[in-house]
Amino acid sequence: MSGSPSVNDFAKPESITGGCLCGSIRYRANFPKDHDFLKLSGSCQCTQCRRNTGALIFMAHTVALRDFTYLTPTTTLKNFYATPGIQRGFCTGCGSFLYWRDESRDDVEIAVGCVDPEFLSKFGFALANASGNNVWCENEIRGVTDGFVGKVGRGIKWARSSEEAIRCKL
Ligand SMILES: [Zn+2]
Ligand SMILES: [Zn+2]
Repeated sequence: MSGSPSVNDFAKPESITGGCLCGSIRYRANFPKDHDFLKLSGSCQCTQCRRNTGALIFMAHTVALRDFTYLTPTTTLKNFYATPGIQRGFCTGCGSFLYWRDESRDDVEIAVGCVDPEFLSKFGFALANASGNNVWCENEIRGVTDGFVGKVGRGIKWARSSEEAIRCKL
């Protein structure tokens, strides 16, 4: 790979580690050979995710639960439920938001901002390219977040959830 990464040419990790700000929760995620780094990279701009993360865009990367393991005890881990059945995992020691998870599914959406910096600098494009589902784009902040997704070949913009299937114009 040379120059700026693109959807056709980017570095892919075999595994990553990440954790919360105070360091009491650490995890590893492994990526099988057939992991689709494009389809599984998304974002959300709903008010819940904004309040949860404190950021205008929540960048998420989905991994299978079987590929996600904790490297520390999880005594400070707590799930907040803004919606029944949807876990928002955070550290009660420092407040870091670690993942979003639909309990009816066998995967977890990692909050990419908590991935360790050495992996983000090397594999940030693989994890946060936003080529999958980008939801709640009706909440885009004009002139700030509206240029983030929707470049040619980069993901799908949904007005709200992808289940509601109302696509935004690119
Ligand atoms: Zn913590
Ligand atoms: Zn959201």
